[in-house]
Amino acid sequence: MTQHVAANGEGRHVIVSHPLVQHKLTLIRRKETTTREFRQLLREIGLLMLYEATRDLPLEDREIETPVARMKGRVLSGKKLCFVPILRAGLGFVDAMLELVPSARVGHIGLYRDPATLAAVQYYLKLPDDISSRLAIVCDPMLATGHSAVAAVRRLKESGADAIKFICLVAAPPGLALMHKEHPDVTVYTAALDERLNDHAYIVPGLGDAGDRLFGTN
Ligand code: URA
Repeated sequence: MTQHVAANGEGRHVIVSHPLVQHKLTLIRRKETTTREFRQLLREIGLLMLYEATRDLPLEDREIETPVARMKGRVLSGKKLCFVPILRAGLGFVDAMLELVPSARVGHIGLYRDPATLAAVQYYLKLPDDISSRLAIVCDPMLATGHSAVAAVRRLKESGADAIKFICLVAAPPGLALMHKEHPDVTVYTAALDERLNDHAYIVPGLGDAGDRLFGTN
């Protein structure tokens, strides 16, 4: 795990350098990777990314009795979790995350990119009523321009969420910079920080269109 604080001193991101994550990331990037393999790899990486993103969750002591003796164990004590995938590629992370935290709630946010302005336009939003008392973990495999991610976090804050983390697979410098600028309180977890965006706002080298690769569309 490599941690960085943005150059302006605001905003924090973590590049998850775990060997398993890096290995799987290389496999998922390859153009030969099939839809089935892509889906499986995204699940596996999602699980490992959530493991890193939950490292700092608070714990409290709890007295229990094993078959042998009484002891003080430790259990989670802070806010309960809510996963918020950005439709549609963010869905690729959710099943694996629920395996790790089965009691988490799941909110959904749908945003599309206006082709003329590249602005993020919301078309769907459904969050649990108690989102203000949960830690919201927003997920989307690609942090490219950052417009969708920034808009999703803004909607969450407008809905009352005040503890938010963002998990992606690949980030580009403009998207990361925008997140740090607009939401310096949101730590970004990514497996890679790639070079740049191309003229179509795709990440280079990236992995192509994550939604198309996940669902076998194009
Ligand atoms: N969205 C994607 O799916 N891929 C990119 O490279 C950028 C945005």
